[in-house]
Amino acid sequence: MDSATYTRDFWQAKAGALKFRTQHFIDGTYVASADGRTFPTINPATGAAITEVARGGEAEIDRAVAAARKAFKSGNWSRLDPRARMAVLEKFSALVEAHAEEFAVLDSLDMGKPVMDMMNIDIPGSVMSLKFFSETIDKIEGAVTSTSASALHYILRQPLGVVGLIVPWNYPLMMAAWKLGPALATGNSVVLKPAEQSPLSANLLAELFIEAGGPSGVLNVVHGLGEEAGKALALHNDVDKIAFTGSTEVGKLLMIYSGQSNMKRVSTECGGKTPQIILGDYDDLDTAVTYAVNGIYGNQGEVCNAGSRILVQKNIHDDFVERFTARTRENFVLGDPLDPSTTIGPLVTASHQKRVLSYIDIGRKEGASLRFGGGTLAAAPAGAYVEPTLFTGVDNSMQIAREEIFGPVATIIPIDGTEDAIEIANDSVYGLAASIWTRDISKAHLFARDIEAGVVWVNCFDHGDMTSIWGGYKQTGNGRDKCLEALTQYTQTKSVWVNLG
Ligand code: NAD
Repeated sequence: MDSATYTRDFWQAKAGALKFRTQHFIDGTYVASADGRTFPTINPATGAAITEVARGGEAEIDRAVAAARKAFKSGNWSRLDPRARMAVLEKFSALVEAHAEEFAVLDSLDMGKPVMDMMNIDIPGSVMSLKFFSETIDKIEGAVTSTSASALHYILRQPLGVVGLIVPWNYPLMMAAWKLGPALATGNSVVLKPAEQSPLSANLLAELFIEAGGPSGVLNVVHGLGEEAGKALALHNDVDKIAFTGSTEVGKLLMIYSGQSNMKRVSTECGGKTPQIILGDYDDLDTAVTYAVNGIYGNQGEVCNAGSRILVQKNIHDDFVERFTARTRENFVLGDPLDPSTTIGPLVTASHQKRVLSYIDIGRKEGASLRFGGGTLAAAPAGAYVEPTLFTGVDNSMQIAREEIFGPVATIIPIDGTEDAIEIANDSVYGLAASIWTRDISKAHLFARDIEAGVVWVNCFDHGDMTSIWGGYKQTGNGRDKCLEALTQYTQTKSVWVNLG
């Protein structure tokens, strides 16, 4: 559709016509919670409740895991001919694309991101994940090893069984799709637990899987709170793996739950405090500035790899700050997420807004200089808005430089050159991503070698496609999304030794 069609009236009409799917989706049908409990999901742009959603617990997790196990054992997905499984996943990705507008408005209402970000980032990223992994299905290979003449030894790569996917609210559809792609492509059955702040799009996804020809019980959705439904899933003795994206705090809990139950595998994609390094030799400062502002304020700063620590060489520092301030004013319009001209929406909840504002307070008290922002949106007092905010004069020992704020708060730290940049950048418990801007090829490669991060960008930020691996070092966790590497996280090897003697 022509982008001129996407007016605010268009999106408001779409939102008004939405049908909410609010129950659990188990074994191909909708079910309420056994005890009838629900929780409200709130529109953070207005503070108003959108609808009530089923609040699952142990009973619903048990039911979903049993359905997933039954489907897995039946072999109607796990042993389906690879090309037939591929056809289902391809159709699934096409159906997600065909429902782009509905997904866009569901996630935008639920967690506040600009609806056009959904159209331009989340939907294409989700469709591509399902499509990419569908294409891998008949390319997954085992191996035959070189053993003695009296034996044949081969290695099979097999699905794990029942996989629990626990996902966050910042990219509700896309985080689910990044995990569903490899989990389903490799033949597993899945129980998806969406974040309680953004439950509305997951059931549509599950319905479309069935419409694409996926068998019942292979993709189940249980809604509920993290400490109830999420914990029950992670403690379940018949779940073979938890694939998690979310906070480091909860990632650590999941590893404990695994040890307390059946030693299920746990892959974690957790927090970050991404450094963006701009060296004085980089001659196109305007481009670096544009990437830097987008790198921190995009998606309201609610991004695991938000470039929240900006390390700028002292000789260009003041010029950089001036341009950064001007570019933020040009690029970021705070407002109603359903207005296509909005580029930064409200934060996910009022309590998260409070948390981000408290960090701004901490920054002031720590002695950093507040250059702009720090406030809310006067025109929408009930919305969870926070203005794009910049602190300069930041030292890496300050709390605002060390802790993940998960909001539109940038910090600028002056540096002397590459050496102290690497030292400061690595002085973090996190290690998701890092970027460097320089024309010096040796410095760029040295940085790439020495930085403790799973993703490195040289002279860009946030570039990548399905062929680039996503995941971090250190307390960002051990998970890897995207790329063929993700397939290894949803399969296990089996060694078969055949005696020919
Ligand atoms: P969160 O950890 O609070 O919640 C994530 C999910 O875990 C939700 O579904 C929640 O219900 C569930 N959960 C919470 N407590 C649980 C428990 N005790 N047992 C089981 N499940 C539980 O995170 P969030 O606030 O939704 O998301 C923000 C975080 O996600 C940030 O830290 C961000 O960096 C991280 N994130 C990381 C990546 C990455 O790829 N590394 C991507 C996106 C977001």
